[in-house]
Amino acid sequence: MTTATVTVGAVPGTHQVAPPHTFILFGATGDLAHRKLFPALYSLYMDKLMPEQFAVVGVARTDFDDAHFRDEVRSAIEKFGRIKPDKTTFAKFVERFFYKSVDVNNPEDFRKLKERVEQVEKQLDLPKQRLFYLAMAPNFFGTVALSLKSSGLSEVDGWRRLIIEKPFGRDLESARVLNNELRQVFEEEEIYRIDHYLGKEMVQNIEVIRFANSIFEPLWNNRSIANVQITSSEVVGVEDRASYYEKSGALRDMVQNHMLQMVMMVAMEPPSRLNMEAIRDEKVKVLRSLRRYTLDEVMGNVVRGQYTAGTINGKPVKGYREEPNVAPNSSTETFVAARLYIDNFRWAGVPFYIRTGKHMAAKATEIVIQFRDLPKDMYFNQNGQLGPNLLRIRVNPQEGMSLLLNAKQPGTDETVVPVSMEFSQSVTNSPEAYERLLLDAMQGDSTFFTRWDEVSLAWKFVDPIAEAFHTHAVPLHQYAAGSWGPKAAEQLLHADGNAWWPVHGQQPAAAVKAGNPM
Ligand code: NAP
Repeated sequence: MTTATVTVGAVPGTHQVAPPHTFILFGATGDLAHRKLFPALYSLYMDKLMPEQFAVVGVARTDFDDAHFRDEVRSAIEKFGRIKPDKTTFAKFVERFFYKSVDVNNPEDFRKLKERVEQVEKQLDLPKQRLFYLAMAPNFFGTVALSLKSSGLSEVDGWRRLIIEKPFGRDLESARVLNNELRQVFEEEEIYRIDHYLGKEMVQNIEVIRFANSIFEPLWNNRSIANVQITSSEVVGVEDRASYYEKSGALRDMVQNHMLQMVMMVAMEPPSRLNMEAIRDEKVKVLRSLRRYTLDEVMGNVVRGQYTAGTINGKPVKGYREEPNVAPNSSTETFVAARLYIDNFRWAGVPFYIRTGKHMAAKATEIVIQFRDLPKDMYFNQNGQLGPNLLRIRVNPQEGMSLLLNAKQPGTDETVVPVSMEFSQSVTNSPEAYERLLLDAMQGDSTFFTRWDEVSLAWKFVDPIAEAFHTHAVPLHQYAAGSWGPKAAEQLLHADGNAWWPVHGQQPAAAVKAGNPM
């Protein structure tokens, strides 16, 4: 296959500086805070997107003083930051970090936290604008929100916002209960439900690729597109997250949120305006049109799998049931593949195939748009030998996209070969998803956060599937760690005369040419 490469460089940021505020971080001693949030705040600071006036108040039970907390912040940024602590500026950044030990189960602690936050605001002459981030287990979300209200911490002069991490409930019912608790304190517009996939550069780029190119939008429908394939595969296994994952599984951990978000971004209608509500309105319409499966239909359209022992990067790895804190007879799925249909005029009849799993052969998040085949008797396709055009959007790990075309092989008469036009992002140090999303939340832009109607519709789609998994109406297929999932996931597509396209970098040219990708 011939490849023509165009590299897209960094464009200067167009973001505005965030307004002054106090960032109150619950779960400040946790993994997410260390790996993502402290580094994201520092990168924003170094990119001059943090305001001159801000403070971060870290909250958790561990008994730190401010100095110890600041040391923790520094080592987290040294370890995980895309921008490492700088000799001259870091001290000024970190002196705005404070810590208060709080047990969120103890309402009295919230009163003390309020005093501490007010003291910091006074000391730094900050307006009473507060961003609360709940980087802690979801069972605390409701309790924290209600205590913010009863302690008076949620009372502000300017704005207040609440960012919460996934998962938002474990089914529609629990999500409703949680939402009702949050809504006793915050308005819907003040609740920022984070789905970090929506902060990824290439996921945000989908709307630009679609709506800023006249060559795509006229073809973006069931007349020209044969199917859409969305893969999000991880090489890592469950690692030390088994206590969470055993209750969640791939369906709740990945499909209900990240995978459906990518489906919505691909399938949504052009919004009337590029503003947050117009975009989210269009995304919600996709979920309204998403065919909901009955228990019986789940069987024919959804595959679940669990990894067994296998080999990753030449090293043997354990099966899921042998992992620490996993029940020896666990039926938690570590892989899901599904065929979805969006029953509207644009997409009727086009299968959207999704697959996600742990301990798979490669780490990749990709969207492949497969265009329809040419008629068989056309000039260059008399034996049906031409492969389809593919638009591949690579979200992770190498951001970029490619367009697979057919062209004449140079020096031959009529030999047609696939030619891949590659666009790769050359930005080696591009902002992380959490940087974009934190900045958006500070600025009050919730475009790339999940609205309640999206969450509830996503659960309405997922709940019958979860029920079918729970009752074992859908078999639990095994797959060897290091593979591309169970055979049943391939058969799901073969039944439609399709096959999964190998992810970027795993693509044998000959297979593509033969139209038989795996
Ligand atoms: P974690 O490492 O277990 O951290 C939990 C935090 O909560 C710790 O700071 C802990 O600190 C604090 N905490 C626990 N009980 C508390 C209590 N009673 N009062 C006050 N603080 C308490 O969890 P995590 O991995 O950071 O995840 C946090 C949230 O982010 C979860 O909702 C998770 O699903 C979500 N998330 C995480 C990641 C990730 O990459 N880690 C990715 C996506 C989503 P103390 O023990 O000091 O109290």
